[in-house]
Amino acid sequence: MAGLKVAVISGANQGIGFAVVKELCKSFDGSVYLTSRDEHRGRAAVEELEKLGFHPKYHQLDIDDEASVLKLRDHLKATYGGLDILVNNAGMLIVSKDEDSRELFAKSARSVLQTNFFNTYRACNILFPILRPHARVVNLSSSMGHLLQIDGQHEPASIALRAQLASTHLTYDELFQIVNDFLDAVQRGDHPELGWPKKNWVSYIASKIAVSAMTRIQQRDFDVDSRQDIIVNHVHPGFVKTTMAPNGVLTIEEGAVAPAWLAMLPPNNATNPKGSYIALACLLAI
Ligand code: NDP
Repeated sequence: MAGLKVAVISGANQGIGFAVVKELCKSFDGSVYLTSRDEHRGRAAVEELEKLGFHPKYHQLDIDDEASVLKLRDHLKATYGGLDILVNNAGMLIVSKDEDSRELFAKSARSVLQTNFFNTYRACNILFPILRPHARVVNLSSSMGHLLQIDGQHEPASIALRAQLASTHLTYDELFQIVNDFLDAVQRGDHPELGWPKKNWVSYIASKIAVSAMTRIQQRDFDVDSRQDIIVNHVHPGFVKTTMAPNGVLTIEEGAVAPAWLAMLPPNNATNPKGSYIALACLLAI
């Protein structure tokens, strides 16, 4: 099947990832991989799509397990010779309770940052070497990953921290330092003093801010290396009703619109968003 194009969506057994698979099955000329950490749930999701007349392929992928990511990479390399679309959708949210101990709060913060940021970063590092020219990468961030939010509720209050995160010179080392400083501060219980919001879901906010900052560095690196026209963007899918966000107002199909649009950006188009933050609202305005 070398030469055939291929798309991979992580965390796609449910929610937005599942709907992105459905959308790409309609619009992408190539194989679309629904991946999941739990094989049983993933295969059940594939069956559901089969009943609707779509034909995704399946591969197990747990981004918390390095061996699982390596196995997927080897499969893609052997079967297709590369990768054309990667949607880093897998993610988790833990909202702490007011009565949680500091230890429990710190433990959940470490879990959220591990999956949403550190392990997404590692999955990219494993899969990026097989990206083909004109590949498209979409990182699921959030409006909470934006450094200047309209509601002013979630972004870091520290102007210095925001400036450092937004810097076009930010390095991975500096980003890792910021995230590790955040985790240390959560452990001590003084993260608001570093400028982080005092919210029970602050670890999710920090994880998405880090994913967005990572995206900007990734695009910068693609721009200077010899591989042409690879584009990575970060996206807020909207407030979507899923297991993660039961109060969401959009359907999963609506939540898939912006990620799928970014995944399908045409080749060699100078006006493409690159390393950019896109929200569903931006698309509706286009
Ligand atoms: P869901 O909880 O419905 O789906 C999350 C998916 O990620 C599930 O399939 C879950 O698997 C999977 N997952 C979690 N950890 C891992 C892992 N280690 N390896 C592989 N897969 C994993 O959430 P949503 O569909 O709402 O969220 C999808 C993405 O969109 C997330 O990154 C989220 O942060 C982001 N987002 C969502 C918003 C919303 O309003 N819903 C708003 C902004 C951003 P399992 O089923 O096994 O748990």
